[in-house]
Amino acid sequence: MIFTVAPGPNAQRSLGALGALLRNPRFAGAGLIAVAALDLLGPERVATLNAGRLTVDTMMYPSAVPTVIVTPEAAAALLGRPLEGAAPGVAGRPLDGTIGFVRVPVEYAARNVVAVLRGSDPKLRQQYVALTAHNDHVGFDRAPVDHDSLRAYDRVVRPMGADSPLRPATADEAVRIRRDLDSLRKRNPARPDSIRNGADDDGSGTVSILEIAERMAGERSKLRRSILFVSHTGEENGLVGSGWFTDHPTVPRDSIVAEIDQDMVGRGTADDLPEGGPTYLEVIGAKRLSREFGEQLEAANAAQPVPFVFNYAYDAPNHPLQYYCRADHYNYARYGIPSVSLSRGEHLDYHQVTDEPQYIDYDNLARVARLVREAALRVGNAEHRPALDRPKGDPQAPCVQ
Ligand SMILES: [Zn+2]
Repeated sequence: MIFTVAPGPNAQRSLGALGALLRNPRFAGAGLIAVAALDLLGPERVATLNAGRLTVDTMMYPSAVPTVIVTPEAAAALLGRPLEGAAPGVAGRPLDGTIGFVRVPVEYAARNVVAVLRGSDPKLRQQYVALTAHNDHVGFDRAPVDHDSLRAYDRVVRPMGADSPLRPATADEAVRIRRDLDSLRKRNPARPDSIRNGADDDGSGTVSILEIAERMAGERSKLRRSILFVSHTGEENGLVGSGWFTDHPTVPRDSIVAEIDQDMVGRGTADDLPEGGPTYLEVIGAKRLSREFGEQLEAANAAQPVPFVFNYAYDAPNHPLQYYCRADHYNYARYGIPSVSLSRGEHLDYHQVTDEPQYIDYDNLARVARLVREAALRVGNAEHRPALDRPKGDPQAPCVQ
């Protein structure tokens, strides 16, 4: 199956729409889908693709047909005739072969960082409440972009950053972008930047577990079970670090009674998303395995001076954004460990060079950390571990949102 994308002003929009098209059940029987668009991607994207990745993402779309992006010349060779003038649906020549990939060691090793705060109860301290966040992000761009230009564009056109489709601005939007940029220019000169810092994703969760560790280190006597702090690597490459840790845990797997993951807990203001505000918190997976665990989290929240209002919308079965399958908590859940992913939501700086610390809502980030500490104390001190409401499934089965 060969798709072509016409060059021109709409090429980026067509490329953005391809993902949905490729998952159309019509093409489920295809052996391979080739998209003749490599020359439209730009040098940065081509370099990224050529660099390969740590995982082949079969988790989100396990039945997806293998897809390759090729040049028009390669597509013509596959088809056995020039692309120009070939009508849609025209048959090419039969091809056979196998699809594979080459495994090469990564140049710089990335590691999970694990710490234990030993509980005080001689029996229960063999059990752990895991508090996690991820320490990796999405690298850097080869071509620098101007911070304020990107932000002015994303504010109008891509309010969820990289999770919004990339498209040209309409004429009206272009006027708003220009106006926003002009006001930013009065304050800042152009600031070219190529580093995706990940202050929120997931610097926020990372500093939160550090702060919780520091606080709890001084209150061990209050704690019966032990706390397991895990700073995961490779989340952005397909939950690689948490996958490795849960496959090869450094404590007996069944001694982990629950897990709380914090990923992007530093934003969520009214400026960041329409439903945002000081009490905004997305909660995913909390009650899927253990209602009791979800209720302990709710009780910890209710005990806060200003509780969050839990948004369970993204936990809904079949939600198209697939958050349940996109955060590290899932790797614990697949082994039957009650787990939750906490997030204060996406925003225009998601996976952009503009995800920087000056946009973090520090006061409310601290409130998330206090909530997580309180929940860890409650689970860690309860008479029994959170009861499972359903039998453990197959940890290698594909994730189902
Ligand atoms: Zn993240």
